Amino acid sequence: MKKNTIKRIKEAFPHFNERPITENDFWRASKKFKIVVRRLPLEIDGYYERYKGRNYILLSERLTGRKWLHTALHEFCHFLFDVPIGKTNYVLYRKRSDIDRDDPRERWADAFATICLMPFPEIIRLSKEPPPEDQDTLRLCLDRLTVKSHYGI
Ligand SMILES: [Zn+2]
Repeated sequence: MKKNTIKRIKEAFPHFNERPITENDFWRASKKFKIVVRRLPLEIDGYYERYKGRNYILLSERLTGRKWLHTALHEFCHFLFDVPIGKTNYVLYRKRSDIDRDDPRERWADAFATICLMPFPEIIRLSKEPPPEDQDTLRLCLDRLTVKSHYGI
């Protein structure tokens, strides 16, 4: 993990990988960077778009709760890292089920969202308790450990 990467993230989310990033954090960061966030009847979970120099995060109105937040943060990650400098129009889609695992931008955007939802101190805390019974939380913990082994964060 490059130092500049963390610096860029902390501009948006000062508590990244310290405590869980909440929906409020997401809205605050979107406001700070003047990103327009909309819920729409989409076939896909969501996408990030830059159009005429303005930034948009478009999210499926089907999404709720943790899935919504994970997708919103995934798209935010594209805003932070994946727009080629000088481009005023740009789109990055997220497929509904088969995220393109070969695209490092997609893998990192997923990893980023997972870290946001499950910062490492939280993993340490949970490891001292009985395993979570909730399947989604268990899945998130396993994903988080995979991120740790791939990205070292
Ligand atoms: Zn994506």
